[in-house]
Amino acid sequence: MGARRRIIPLFVPHLGCPHACVFCDQRAISGAAEPVDAAAVTKELEAAERRFPPGAELAFYGGSFTAIPPAEQEALLAAAAPFLERGFLAALRISTRPDCVDEGSLERLRRYGVKTVELGAQAMDDGVLRLAGRGHTAADTRRAAALVKAGGFDLILQMMTGLPGSGPELDIRTAEELLALKPQGLRVYPTVVLRDTALCALWRAGKYRAQTVEEAAEVCAAIWELAEAAGVPLLRVGLNPSPELAERVAAGAYHPALGELALSRLWLRRAERLLRETPHGERVTLAVPACRLSQMAGQRRQNIEILQREFGLKSVKLTASGAEDGQIQLLS
Ligand code: SF4
Repeated sequence: MGARRRIIPLFVPHLGCPHACVFCDQRAISGAAEPVDAAAVTKELEAAERRFPPGAELAFYGGSFTAIPPAEQEALLAAAAPFLERGFLAALRISTRPDCVDEGSLERLRRYGVKTVELGAQAMDDGVLRLAGRGHTAADTRRAAALVKAGGFDLILQMMTGLPGSGPELDIRTAEELLALKPQGLRVYPTVVLRDTALCALWRAGKYRAQTVEEAAEVCAAIWELAEAAGVPLLRVGLNPSPELAERVAAGAYHPALGELALSRLWLRRAERLLRETPHGERVTLAVPACRLSQMAGQRRQNIEILQREFGLKSVKLTASGAEDGQIQLLS
């Protein structure tokens, strides 16, 4: 996939979506009331061109791009063409549903310079997909992922945790199955209950227990380790926070720094494993890469307190190591 480019996101909320997924309100998630049209694409890109250097990537997010009527897809993509030709844009990307991808739709994307296809897989358990009102199966995701890769596109997979009928075990299994498809990246979105969605009605009726921030951080930490082991970058954990979105949240795993919480949990679990496996005294020093010191310490040094309590330690000191990212050492 090469170095990360600046992504310019433009939103087509719910365009093309053939089903109303129970959890979804793309207008709240994206903050975009209306989908962009071709004129808006031109206007947004002209503004971006004045602010950013060349080499950016335009992304159409928030809908089911390949299920939009073909003429509208082409109008949106064609509006980006001049910016691609003069080099301001290096590539385009779109997000869509697994059951709305076929060779014809991929060919159209390729013609207009789309390099990356993001598939909203959400879960790999058909029961969970049914309860979420997704209208597709895990087999659709496997088939679509194979088509996208065979078509020469970069594949990014998106999944959710804490959907109705799911739990940590099924969430982990979803992550394992998606990583086995060898995407170029994975995004994980713990379920947030947004007002005025079908999921919110279920939650209010006591028919759905929302995943807590704590539970989401724990399962995302485990998924992060799996992704690292598989060599797949975890590109995002949690929805992009915004004041508008925060106002719409009724329950669930919404936290402006969910990714940091998950990373902090990941480092806690690493330290616990190390201390369990290695003889140590009552005072220990843990060395982690400098960029991971605050994640190892945790919010308000919570991880340090947990380690002291769990292992009966008098003190836990942290120091920066020159080791590769992901590595932790016990120095004393
Ligand atoms: S989750 Fe995706 S497919 Fe479902 S309604 Fe939202 S944007 Fe459409």
